[in-house]
Amino acid sequence: MIEGFFRFHRDVYPTHRDLFRRLAKEQNPGTLFICCSDSRMIPELITQCEPGDLFVIRNAGNIIPSFGPDPGGVTATVEYAISVLGVRDLIVCGHSDCGAMKAIATNISLEGMPAVRNWLQYADAAKLVSSAKRHCSVDAHVDSMVRENVIAQINNVRTHPSVALGLTQSRLNLHGWIYDIESGSLEVLDHESSTFSPVLDS
Ligand code: ZN
Repeated sequence: MIEGFFRFHRDVYPTHRDLFRRLAKEQNPGTLFICCSDSRMIPELITQCEPGDLFVIRNAGNIIPSFGPDPGGVTATVEYAISVLGVRDLIVCGHSDCGAMKAIATNISLEGMPAVRNWLQYADAAKLVSSAKRHCSVDAHVDSMVRENVIAQINNVRTHPSVALGLTQSRLNLHGWIYDIESGSLEVLDHESSTFSPVLDS
């Protein structure tokens, strides 16, 4: 990794010097991007964004707890992004083969992982909706869980006061995305029909 830093400093930094100088004292990201911690999910790579473009929250399962009396780090970061930075778009991006969603869909024992077990309860709505559907395979169930979870997390984030205000004042847009690791393709959520469609025809 240090070798990588040397390469960055030698080859990449000089070509972005002006950008980093501009960003040295302020940021003005237009988008809050919420995705999984999964090592295969790289928001800046798939959107070809530059430093300063995306304000990012990453955690296991791209989860946003509903607003409540004991707000945590995710909630504080959402609030800051909307109230202070004034992001105009909030994207919840799930991905194929998500370990967190697979654990829920396959009812993996989370004995000995109390923190994970508690955390994944924020996806309970998705779990119930997905379980009520018929699936022809485990992979199909996991895929359904990934999709329902993006919808559930968008519903969760609507409970945050800063989000509710931003939506009411028409200065915030919510988006649901699914990224497929193998094909590199992207699907986006249609809020009215609660279905996802590819952004590219292929
Ligand atoms: Zn994941």
